[in-house]
Amino acid sequence: MKFICIGRNYAAHAAELHQEAPKQPVFFLKPDSAITRCNRPFFLPDFSQEVHYETEIIVKINRLGKCIPEKFAHNYYEEIGLGVDLTARDLQRKCIQHGEPWEIAKAFDGSAVVGGFLPKSQFEDVQNLSFHLLLNGNKVQEGNSRDMLFTIDQLIAHVSQFITLRTGDILFTGTPVGVGPVHINDHLQGFLEGEKLFDFKVK
Ligand code: ZN
Repeated sequence: MKFICIGRNYAAHAAELHQEAPKQPVFFLKPDSAITRCNRPFFLPDFSQEVHYETEIIVKINRLGKCIPEKFAHNYYEEIGLGVDLTARDLQRKCIQHGEPWEIAKAFDGSAVVGGFLPKSQFEDVQNLSFHLLLNGNKVQEGNSRDMLFTIDQLIAHVSQFITLRTGDILFTGTPVGVGPVHINDHLQGFLEGEKLFDFKVK
């Protein structure tokens, strides 16, 4: 499986990184080795001094698809969840500065935290889902899927023009405003529509 991650899908987050809101979705990949699952701890890598949390709604692809029309995209996922796109912000800044690929900042081991999933059928509208992150008990990030610049269906349609989606692939749909650094012993808990979907510590 692979992770497909969307960059700058919330206008306020793009602004906090001093970047423009994109005209079409921007995406990058993480390999399967990036996964941190089942509330296992995340181990801070020693190559970065500034790893940031990015809390994101995630979508599990449930069938093979290529060039999926937007109107059929909803057939390609049944489960929706919450994850963290951990980002070595210091390395990412250097990559951007030098026009280099982002992998060392985004695709490293453990950088894709995958929490629990809920059936999409339990929600009236996947484009109206609230979510938030508690860092050591304090709410530091809060978003709603209605503020996405591109809807989940638009993202699936766009990405699948370039890359075949396979069963088990996970789409990270972008982070809202409020990203910040994690430190050793931090405790992160993520909630989607009030349900806790991840709970892990930084080691
Ligand atoms: Zn992200």
